[in-house]
Amino acid sequence: MNADSTGRAATTVQSVQVRAVCLPLANPHRTAGGVVSESPLVLIDLRTRDGVVGRSLIFTYTRAALASTAELVRNLAHLVEGEALAPVALHHSLARRFRLLGTQGLVGMALAGLDMALWDALARRQGGSLVEALGGVAKPVPVYGAVGYDGVQGSARVAEHWANRGFTGVKAKIGYPSVKEDLAVIRAMREAVGDGVAIMVDYNQSLSPTEAIERLRLLEHEGLVWVEEPTLAHDYAGHARISRAVQVPIQTGENWWGIQDMHHALMAGASSYVMPDAMKIGGVTGWLGAAALAQSQAMPMSSHLYSELSAQLLCVTPTAHWLEHVDWWDPLLAAPLQVEDGHTRLDGVVGSGLEWNEAVVAEYSV
Ligand SMILES: [Mg+2]
Repeated sequence: MNADSTGRAATTVQSVQVRAVCLPLANPHRTAGGVVSESPLVLIDLRTRDGVVGRSLIFTYTRAALASTAELVRNLAHLVEGEALAPVALHHSLARRFRLLGTQGLVGMALAGLDMALWDALARRQGGSLVEALGGVAKPVPVYGAVGYDGVQGSARVAEHWANRGFTGVKAKIGYPSVKEDLAVIRAMREAVGDGVAIMVDYNQSLSPTEAIERLRLLEHEGLVWVEEPTLAHDYAGHARISRAVQVPIQTGENWWGIQDMHHALMAGASSYVMPDAMKIGGVTGWLGAAALAQSQAMPMSSHLYSELSAQLLCVTPTAHWLEHVDWWDPLLAAPLQVEDGHTRLDGVVGSGLEWNEAVVAEYSV
């Protein structure tokens, strides 16, 4: 074994434990594309030879993908077991190994889950946070609260709840049958939170580019910080056409699989802002590449889901913008992300901040 600069011997990955849970949501989350009422999650516990455990979770969006994603991670475990605890090197060697099959979809999710667990183990082994392991300094990042597809009164009520908690931004699902309803929701939220709170809206890919241009021309003077995924996530040309046609900034990125998708979207001029998903973009290693791409175009970069991990990743993102605050998985966590005065707080966080509440994991295991 080689010794690192602290004199500590390098270690290897000993084993990977995989569990599947299906956690009901306290408040089902409605979007223009359907209702999210439960979180199917794959939990990974990666143990090093010297006894450190790195953890990660993978959100599979639908229960139908849960068992197969968990099985895939189990099948990939032998590719990291016995290997040095070196997430960047493993990221690239696994990407090479799966070049023929491709690293999108379930394969990409499984690989990202392993990458995130490897980074967590690396940081814990150094005795500090992920931010420290990445060479950064913990700092507060502004957080926005989620407003579902909850109608005029419901959206205003939820937005007000976040503002009362000190959040400086809220993001609502829209894409109602008519633009009049979209507008009514935005105006009711503005009325509820006042001018000091940023308002974003998310169409969840529900419009054609032409419909989006027609609608956004009627919304572009409402002071929105961004309009998210107005059209199909992988229609970069469509997003670019919308971006050119309207004044309001377009946001996209949560559905990019790896930094190649992000590169293609940036080349197309798809959006003004970017918000990769830590898992879909390729875990921590993928995120670091995405942060460099965003930096190269001075493009503000926000996060999607994975609040605990993203709060730290945004500390090493040169163009860090907003953290999406999602508390769906809090019951599973011993110490969910702390938010104070609308900003993240990372005091005392070790690794990527994931520790399981084992009683809840046991209750919702499938
Ligand atoms: Mg979204």
